[in-house]
Amino acid sequence: MSEAGQRGKFTSAEAYCLMLYRCEGAEPHDEILWNSRDGVTPFVIKCARCESEMKHENWSKDRRVPDHIPEVGDRIFVNLTMDQAMPGARKHVEQYWDHSEWPLSKTYPGMTREECVGAKAQEWVGDGGNPHVIEVTDKTKAEFRLRANTVEGRRPNWMRSGRHA
Ligand SMILES: [Zn+2]
Repeated sequence: MSEAGQRGKFTSAEAYCLMLYRCEGAEPHDEILWNSRDGVTPFVIKCARCESEMKHENWSKDRRVPDHIPEVGDRIFVNLTMDQAMPGARKHVEQYWDHSEWPLSKTYPGMTREECVGAKAQEWVGDGGNPHVIEVTDKTKAEFRLRANTVEGRRPNWMRSGRHA
């Protein structure tokens, strides 16, 4: 099938796919991550167990499941938000503000540290479609269960009557 054919009505080939990532650490192991949105995912991510690199393998076996409900503890891809980006941006600015070779205080002239944290986070978030890995909590699972149950065509009849909803 052509790439366009696989994409169908979706923008990215890996939209809502369950994907296999293989750890390249000393004790190789696999993890299935679900892409919870129609957006790109990175080829390489960090292993949560051993901090080695994990690579997306067996692309042809990616399985698209838009109404998948991930389990608590599963890792999934979401769109990076400002809230999620801020802690990492803060750490990054701490580390590089007075760096001997690439000081952020010089790259972002006229900014306070705190403004620089916001600017960095905004860079990472971009237009809102950049991927981020999160671990599913009870709360996130409940949100995905709700979303799966309201996917058009899976609604019970009483919810489908009328178009005003
Ligand atoms: Zn690992």
